[in-house]
Amino acid sequence: MQLEFLGGSSVLSSPHSAPYKQRMASFGALSLCPCSPLSRPHQTVRTITRCRGSPTVLGKNVSKEHRKRPGRLEGAKRSMEDSVQRKMEQFYEGSDGPPLRVLPIGGLGEIGMNCMLVGNYDRYILIDAGVMFPDHDELGVQKIIPDTTFIRRWSHKIEAVVITHGHEDHIGALPWVIPALDSHTPIFASSFTVELIKKRLKENGIFIPSRLKVFKMKRRFTAGPFEIEPIRVTHSIPDCCGLVLRCADGTIFHTGDWKIDESPLDGKVFDRETLEQLSKEGVTLMMSDSTNVLSPGRTISESVVADALLRRISAAKGRVITTQFASNIHRLGSVKAAADLTGRKLVFVGMSLRTYLDAAWKDGKAPIDPSTLVKVEDIDAYAPKDLLIVTTGSQAEPRAALNLASYGSSHSLKLSKEDMILYSAKVIPGNESRVMKMLNRISEIGSNIIMGKNELLHTSGHGYRGELEEVLQIVKPQHFLPIHGELLFLKEHELLGRSTGIRHTTVIKNGEMLGVSHLRNRRVLSNGFTSLGMENLQLKYSDGDKAFGSSSELFVDERLKIATDGIIVVSMEILRPQSVDGLNETGIRGKLRITTRCLWLDKGKLLDALHKAAHAALSSCPVNCPLPHMERTVSELLRKMVRKYSGKRPEVIVMAVENPGGVLTEELGTRLSGKSNTGIGISAFRKAVDGQPTKSHLNSIKPNGNDDFHSEDNSSQESQGFCIKPERLLPEEDYIPSNSTEMNSFDNEGLEDFWRPFITPTSPANELAKDNEGSVQQSKNTLEITNEGEEVSDDKSLKTSNSDVKPVKRNKWKPEEIKKLIQLRGKLHDRFQVAKGRMALWEEISTSMLADGINRSPGQCKSLWASLVVKFEQESKSENKSKSWPYFDEMSGILSGSEDVATE
Ligand SMILES: [Zn+2]
Ligand SMILES: [Zn+2]
Repeated sequence: MQLEFLGGSSVLSSPHSAPYKQRMASFGALSLCPCSPLSRPHQTVRTITRCRGSPTVLGKNVSKEHRKRPGRLEGAKRSMEDSVQRKMEQFYEGSDGPPLRVLPIGGLGEIGMNCMLVGNYDRYILIDAGVMFPDHDELGVQKIIPDTTFIRRWSHKIEAVVITHGHEDHIGALPWVIPALDSHTPIFASSFTVELIKKRLKENGIFIPSRLKVFKMKRRFTAGPFEIEPIRVTHSIPDCCGLVLRCADGTIFHTGDWKIDESPLDGKVFDRETLEQLSKEGVTLMMSDSTNVLSPGRTISESVVADALLRRISAAKGRVITTQFASNIHRLGSVKAAADLTGRKLVFVGMSLRTYLDAAWKDGKAPIDPSTLVKVEDIDAYAPKDLLIVTTGSQAEPRAALNLASYGSSHSLKLSKEDMILYSAKVIPGNESRVMKMLNRISEIGSNIIMGKNELLHTSGHGYRGELEEVLQIVKPQHFLPIHGELLFLKEHELLGRSTGIRHTTVIKNGEMLGVSHLRNRRVLSNGFTSLGMENLQLKYSDGDKAFGSSSELFVDERLKIATDGIIVVSMEILRPQSVDGLNETGIRGKLRITTRCLWLDKGKLLDALHKAAHAALSSCPVNCPLPHMERTVSELLRKMVRKYSGKRPEVIVMAVENPGGVLTEELGTRLSGKSNTGIGISAFRKAVDGQPTKSHLNSIKPNGNDDFHSEDNSSQESQGFCIKPERLLPEEDYIPSNSTEMNSFDNEGLEDFWRPFITPTSPANELAKDNEGSVQQSKNTLEITNEGEEVSDDKSLKTSNSDVKPVKRNKWKPEEIKKLIQLRGKLHDRFQVAKGRMALWEEISTSMLADGINRSPGQCKSLWASLVVKFEQESKSENKSKSWPYFDEMSGILSGSEDVATE
C-alpha cells in the first residue's frame, strides 16, 4: 500500500533529518516496561479537584516525557521514568473538570499511526486508526499499531470511530482496533473510504457490514456525545474531510489531512466558507495537520502536476513509465488524461494501483474504467510509443514493480534505455537510501529518469506553512493543538498558531490527556489547557499474518541484537563418567554440535575456539552437575569468549541432553575387553579426562612407537598436539604451564586456546585443572565445518594447556604421592615393557595408590609419569650433575640403562 503522508520537498532537505533523528532518538530511549500497563491501578478513578485557581497551562508545563517506542531503556533511568509516569497515569474521569477531552493514542511526535480519542467528559469517539511503518532497525516488522490494549480497556467509553480519509496512516490499524472495541461500536467514514475499509476488513475476516456507516460532506450525524459535521478539505486521496464536533460544552475542529488546492481535478474545492462560518460560531479547540509546517509558501495544485505530466508525455518518443502513490486517484486521472491526449494505452503494473482504483470505481469516483486497462501480459503486443505504464515502487519497496524492474527481475516490466521514467512522487524521509539505489540501477540500464521539484511532477497533499497560517487565521480557535507530525513540526506549528494571535496553544505527545473548556467570554482569563493525566502507551507490532503484540512479545529488540551480534547454538549430548572396576572417573564429556548464524567466524578459527571452550566448560562441571547448570556454564563461557574475540555479544543457546549412562558402561566394558576399535573408547575418554601426550608430543620426548593407547585412537590427534614443558608439569610447580605456539593445529596465533582466558580462576573449568593435576591433555577432535558456519564434532576432551594466560593454581601432587607412584611404576617396569595392556597396568597402579589413601586416576598417574620421564631425561643430560632433583635417583633406578625409555 502506498502511503503519502509527507508533503513539501523542502522538508526533504537537511532540515528534515532533524525530526527523523529526533524520532529515532526518542525511540531509542524507550523502555521495555516491567511495570506493564496492566499491572498499574489504571482503573482507579481519581477525581482531581478543579484546578481553576491554579490551572496547568500546558503551553508551559508540558511534560518532559517523550513518547518513546518501548523496549530500549534499561536500568535506573527506566525506573526513574516509570515513577514519574506512574504519578501521571491517572486520568480525569467523571463529570468534574474540563468537559472537552483529547487523548492522542498515536500520530503526535511521529509521522503515521494517527489515532486520537476525543471526548465530552467520559464519552469518547476515536478519530482515525492508522498504522506506522517500521524503522530500519525494527527488523521483520510490517506495521506498527496503536496501543490496542489501552483501547480495549477504554472500549466501554468509546462510542464510535470516525475516519477522516483512507490513507494507511488513518485506516491501516482498523483490523486490530475494531476487535478491541465493543462489538457494536459503529465506524463512520465517507463512501470511498468505506470501500477501502471494507476490503481491508474482508481480508482480515472481520467485515460486519452493519458497523460501517457512510457519511456525506456537510451532512451532520451523531456519533457518541457529538454532533459531527464532515467538511471537505483537499488532500491527495478522494473524499478527505475535516471534522467539526459539536456538543453542549463547545466545538472542536479536527482538520484531518489537508492542503488548499485552488483548482482540484475533481472540482471539489477546499471548504473555506464553512470554516468562516465556524469561526463566527466559535471554535473551542482546533487540531491541525503539521506535516509541512517547515515548508514555506504554498503547495502547487494537482492541476499543475497534470499539466507537467502531459507536457512530458507528449514530448516522449518511446515508452513512458510513471511511478506514483497508488492512492492518489486524482493523479491517476491526470495520467489517464495525458494517455488519452497522446494516444497511448494505459497499463498498471503493481497490485495496489488496482486496489485503490477498484475502490474508486465502486464508489463512482474512478477516472479510469479498470476494464479498459491494457493487461500487463500484453505489454509486448504494443509499440513502446503507444504505451503509458503506471507502476508502484516510488519508495523502492522491495516487492514493488519499479524496484523489481530496476533489478531486471520483473516478469512483466523490462526497462530499456529508450524508456522515460516520470517520478511523480516524493521520497519519504527514511527511504532516501534505497530509492537512490533503485534510481542508480535504473540509470545503469539507461532509462531517462525525470524527477525533481522543478519538474512539477509531484505536489504534496499537506498544506505548506502559508496554507496552515491562512486556516489558523480563518478559524481563530480559542485553543490550538498541532497534530499529525514529528515533535519538531508540532512545536513549530504551535509557534505559528501563537503568531496568528491564538493565546492557548500547546504541544502534547501520545498518551497525554488534555482537557479544554469553552471560553464563554473571551475577555475572561482562561485556564487554557488542563493536563488530565498521562498513559504509558505501548506500541503494538504486526510482523505479518497472525503475529501481533508488544515489542517484547515480538522480540523486536532481540531481532536486532541477533542480527548484529549473532547467535550460537550448542547442542550437547552428555556422557557422565561411570565408576567401573573401582575406578572413579572424573569430568564430564559430551558430543557437541555448534551452529552459528550472523557471526564472523574468522575462517573457522573462532568456531574451533568455541568448540574447545565448550568442552572445557563442560569438563569443568562436577560429575553430578545438573544439566541446566552445564548449559549455563557453557553459554556464559562462550559469550565471554566471543565478546573478547570480536567485540560481539552473541545470543548463546545451549541445550544439553543426557545420554543414558548405560551406553558408556557398555562401551567401557567392550573397550576393556579389547573388542572394539571404533568410536569413543574409554581410553580416549581417559585421555580426555586425565590427559595424555599426543604423538606430536611424544615425538619430542621419544615416543613409544607401539603404544597401544595410541594405536587404538583413530582420531586426528596429530593436529591436536600438545606442547609439554616438562619442568612446569613437575610436582614442585604450582602452575599450569603456558602453551606455546608449536602446539597450535591451525595457523599461528594461539587461537586454539583463545577460550582459556575466559575461564576465571574461580570458574568451574578450573576445577578441571585441579582434577587433572600434573597432566597433559589432548583434544580428540574431528571437525566438519560447513560453509554455513556449522560445526559437527565428536570432540571428547579438552586440554588445559594454555597460551598467553596467567598460570592457574592447581592441586599439586604431593612428594609422597610422587614417590609412591615412582615406586609402584618401578615394580611394574618389566610388565610395562610388554607392548599391550599398559592402561590396565596404570589402573593397577591407581588402585594400589588408592589403597594407600592416594586418589589419583590411572590417567593422572600415567601423565605424571610421562612428565617425570621427560624431567629425568633433562636432568640426565644436564651439565650440572648435582642431582638436586629429588626424584632423580629413584627414576634412575628404574630407567637407567634402558635405551628405549618407556613413557608409559
Ligand atoms: Zn495522514
Ligand atoms: Zn492523508
